[in-house]
Amino acid sequence: MSTARRSARRANKLTRRRPWLLPVLAGLAVVAVIAGVAFAVSGVKTMSAKPVTKDAMPKVSASIPATDETTPTADASSSSTSAVEVPNVIGTPLTTGETVIKAAGLTTVTRVASKNTPASPVNAVLSQDPPQGTKVPSGTTITLTYNPKPAPAPVANTQAAPTGLVIAIDPGHQQNGDSSTEPIGPGSSTVKAKVAGGASGASTPREEYKLTLLTSLKLRDILQSRGITVVMIRTTNNVHVSNAERAQIANRAHAALLVRVHFDGVDGSPGTSGISTLYGKGNAWVNPYTAASLRAANLIGNAAAATTGAPYRGAVAHSDMTGLNWATVPSMIIEGGFLSNPTEDARIVTDAYQQKLAQGIANGVMQYLGR
Ligand SMILES: [Zn+2]
Repeated sequence: MSTARRSARRANKLTRRRPWLLPVLAGLAVVAVIAGVAFAVSGVKTMSAKPVTKDAMPKVSASIPATDETTPTADASSSSTSAVEVPNVIGTPLTTGETVIKAAGLTTVTRVASKNTPASPVNAVLSQDPPQGTKVPSGTTITLTYNPKPAPAPVANTQAAPTGLVIAIDPGHQQNGDSSTEPIGPGSSTVKAKVAGGASGASTPREEYKLTLLTSLKLRDILQSRGITVVMIRTTNNVHVSNAERAQIANRAHAALLVRVHFDGVDGSPGTSGISTLYGKGNAWVNPYTAASLRAANLIGNAAAATTGAPYRGAVAHSDMTGLNWATVPSMIIEGGFLSNPTEDARIVTDAYQQKLAQGIANGVMQYLGR
């Protein structure tokens, strides 16, 4: 005897004593059939054309998520449960809206609003089509219209669209830091200062922004002499370019790599020395580039240690660096030594050390490019 028939007999006995149980049991049976059909249809595609019999009906819990349900074939009464209700994502950051839509079993396309709406935050969803609450089949494409990013501030040496292999070089910091804030990644509600002031030398005391530019200009010259097209984020010190804007300049240039040149500093530990690299890891913005960025970081870190004689301290992962999170190309930071170490600081300010450091970075870049 099938389990279903046995339980039907038991139910019959029960309802004779308690007649009010009949509609309750009938309701439960309908729910079980609907859930069974939905499970069979979504779980085993090849079975969807066959009628679902009681014997074939699998045991299912009542907690099948609505999004797992697909268009039914047999039971008309289950059609209302197969449709997905379009969630409301208006006003959310674009990336959040896309995640919410996908979680509901739908797909998205995005469309930049024809006009920037000043009152609405950058990258926020302005409208959606079809609207919230519409019942649509699973997999339906929802069009999200969002507020475009404002154009980045003009940069002193904007170059024409480059051809061939492009390396973007970002000399860290600038003459005056900018403590006004910007999102740490596209659509993020977490913000950080646009550009930090940077370190200065313990013994010299030279400012980091000057040393990063001097080293970066040498790096540019070496790479250009090897046939690489270089996009410089800045070539002078008195500029105003935020970290997010720096990354976006590299994006627009379709750089094979964004190399960000910095020098290190640590309070209360004047003996700390050596070269470090940083790369982006652990969020959706940088995930597509993490492997390439880490590879570049280690090639460049090791090559720079070889030319300068400084120890390589390794590559450190970060998920909160604005200038990495906004990059849609592989990107990394080289910290070319500690300005807080009086001995290392005295070396870093010399033209000879900067030349060796630039040479090492260039060697690493060429290895990364397979040249
Ligand atoms: Zn720095």
